[in-house]
Amino acid sequence: MAAVDFPSSQHFLDGEWAEARDGGTLDVVDPATRQVITTVARAGGADVDDAVAAARRAFPGWAATNPSERGALIRRWADLIMADVEALAAIEARDVGKPLSGGRTNIYIAHGIIDYFAGAADKLTGVTLPTRSPYYLGYTVPEPYGVCAVVIPWNVPAVLTAANVAPALAAGNTVVLKPSEIAPLSPFALAELARRAGFPPGVINVVAGLGPEAGVALTSHPDVDHISFVGSTATGRAIMAAAAQNLVPVKLELGGKSPNVLFADADLDTAIPAIVASITENAGQNCYAGSRLLVEASVHDEVVERVAAGMAAVKCGPWEADLDMGPLVSAAQFARVSGFLKDARREGARLVTGGAPVGDGWFVRPTVYDRVDAGMRVAREEIFGPVLAVESFRDSAEATRLMNDTDFGLLACLWTNDISRALRLAKDVRSGQVTVNQFHDAGVIGFPFNMQKDSGFSRGGGYTALREYTQEKGVAIRL
Ligand code: NAD
Repeated sequence: MAAVDFPSSQHFLDGEWAEARDGGTLDVVDPATRQVITTVARAGGADVDDAVAAARRAFPGWAATNPSERGALIRRWADLIMADVEALAAIEARDVGKPLSGGRTNIYIAHGIIDYFAGAADKLTGVTLPTRSPYYLGYTVPEPYGVCAVVIPWNVPAVLTAANVAPALAAGNTVVLKPSEIAPLSPFALAELARRAGFPPGVINVVAGLGPEAGVALTSHPDVDHISFVGSTATGRAIMAAAAQNLVPVKLELGGKSPNVLFADADLDTAIPAIVASITENAGQNCYAGSRLLVEASVHDEVVERVAAGMAAVKCGPWEADLDMGPLVSAAQFARVSGFLKDARREGARLVTGGAPVGDGWFVRPTVYDRVDAGMRVAREEIFGPVLAVESFRDSAEATRLMNDTDFGLLACLWTNDISRALRLAKDVRSGQVTVNQFHDAGVIGFPFNMQKDSGFSRGGGYTALREYTQEKGVAIRL
């Protein structure tokens, strides 16, 4: 196993590792032990200027590179990731606090995404347009934007690096990535593998730093041509306002409050473990987490009992113990989730299991609240922790109303063996993604990772992500 080693206290800029201009650093903490693992460079405005300038210098050469060569280089990057899965998995797991197997899954997903866009790089085409006479020619040409700013959160850093950097590069853009200050290590490890793959200097730049410093500097930078942001809805609003000043297009992938909608005719033996996993995987810190359970009244009691038993059986521990669930990522996240637990009690939700911290570190027991009223905070707001809110419905019409009674529109998961009901609800739900009888999109290659409402707007996921990172030029010629 080759080791992914990269220098601590440095960021990746113009093809090299470098210290922050003012020598600033950020501590990176293991959430299970609260001990500092290492430090990384803390980028300020001057570092962001350097990164954007490097990306700008690299852009013309990269955009002019034969797309097949771009694809080959991206594939070399993917191959280096595959050769180092175990080391990368440990970095991702320790930094976020998730079990090692979860870190490994993330690296496989990141590899799959990068490999997908390696293959897509030379498939991007324009179209020839119909004309009013045979003596006109009209066609479109997809063109990269230029310098793409990518800002990501801490929950699945390797996956989000891959999902945003790979399509931007495949389409011929250069990138400045700002990972979260909380979990920057796997983006840096991936940057080191990109360096070894041989990307020209400046094509990929990674600068870590705080949101209000490096994040603001990057997303308000006048020489950035496109912004991809993944994070909270509140930060998404601020970034969109900043982008308005420079008239730069923005892709926003924000928060969620995704429902599992369970009908009495569903296969409960399949559904219940999936529902438990959907809110405990990554300690509920996934944008698509199944944080609401809407259950048909006739099976309500049985389902709540079985889900609660499944949640109570979840084993928590540090990343290297490789149990079912790790701690929350930070003190701030722990305080936030604890606040929701207090409010749920105060608002009168019925605690079925969990509801308390456990052990050292920022561990919270998987928690189920029943008899949740649609107006309660626990039902409406994104908690980003292992906390499930249960509501019940009597028929499809009420299920449809409840599932859409949310500001978010990321994912809805339908559990039923009635195909026409599933198709009707899939049509009526206002969310970017719908799954039936499985949580999330496993098994579908290039599934669109799209959002609606306050969850943002994007064309992520599959081939359409290439379109997100290109603008289309129209050409009309009189022959
Ligand atoms: P966050 O919004 O606090 O931070 C995200 C990133 O933005 C970080 O890198 C941060 O440093 C930076 N940032 C903060 N303020 C900024 C500003 N004013 N200008 C520019 N950058 C700024 O989110 P978080 O707590 O890191 O992550 C959790 C959130 O991410 C949740 O809401 C979750 O749903 C969301 N998320 C969404 C998706 C998706 O695809 N929809 C995927 C993963 C996570």
